Amino acid sequence: MTYEELYRWGSERLTAAGIEEAALDARLLLEYICGTDRNELLAHGDREVENRKRTAYGELLAEREKRIPLQYLTGEQAFMGLEFRVNEAVLIPRQDTEILVEEVLRHLHDGMRILDMCTGSGCILISLLYYTNDCEGVGLDISETALRVAEENKEKLLGGKIQERHGRIHFEQSNLFEKAVGLFDVIVCNPPYIRREALRTLMPEVGKYEPVDALDGGEDGLFFYREITARSKDFLCGGGKLFFEIGCEQAEDVCGLMKSAGFEAINVVKDYSGLDRVVYGTRGFDLETVISTE
Ligand code: GLN
Repeated sequence: MTYEELYRWGSERLTAAGIEEAALDARLLLEYICGTDRNELLAHGDREVENRKRTAYGELLAEREKRIPLQYLTGEQAFMGLEFRVNEAVLIPRQDTEILVEEVLRHLHDGMRILDMCTGSGCILISLLYYTNDCEGVGLDISETALRVAEENKEKLLGGKIQERHGRIHFEQSNLFEKAVGLFDVIVCNPPYIRREALRTLMPEVGKYEPVDALDGGEDGLFFYREITARSKDFLCGGGKLFFEIGCEQAEDVCGLMKSAGFEAINVVKDYSGLDRVVYGTRGFDLETVISTE
């Protein structure tokens, strides 16, 4: 069979299975199997594909038909212009989360100390360190299997770079702030934020295959916002900032939590669809911090 024929076969199978972006997924899986790109398929659609690759492609299509996310099959996802490794232990990095990273980058200065709570694949922290100089990053997560992925991404994406720029990054297994030490200039977090009731309504790719611990935000979806907002003050320097990604209906609640915890200059940032996506605020200066930093 040729590229073109295989591609058509794949698109039809995935369409029949009810996959939303069937043609795109069929193409990406074919490219993955053949180690080619889109140009190759367009320019040489009549090229024969070896039987071995055809069989492998058929196997991947069968997995995708079961609604296993494409990214778990190819093992990667692009985020902030970087290719992150992913597997079933981590949430697949979302484009929405780039809004969070871009907002944090606007406030980051070289040499700052950053804490990433619920780091997962490490996509947020690694991107922040990749696009700055001399920052120190600490990424915490309760899941050891997720942290293995974060370590792999750190090696892959920052390996040489980080030494060159004298930045430091460190991942650690921790139940929320349990292992956090010292003060940070920025705390960033994309926590699990789906209401428990709503978990059942997620599309199969998410609900069946992405780690439930990375999705479940408790009864009202706000569990992590509550915990992290309340404790953040102990880990932020005076003037330090706390950034959250939020579900598009959570802005008011999260702003409220931050306000009651004494955060100042609280802002909401929208994503490209015009939905509320990020909330951030500043920890004010108080006597305690002034004394401890002197
Ligand atoms: N911080 C990771 C991400 O944004 C994981 C988030 C999570 O597990 N909820 O992809």
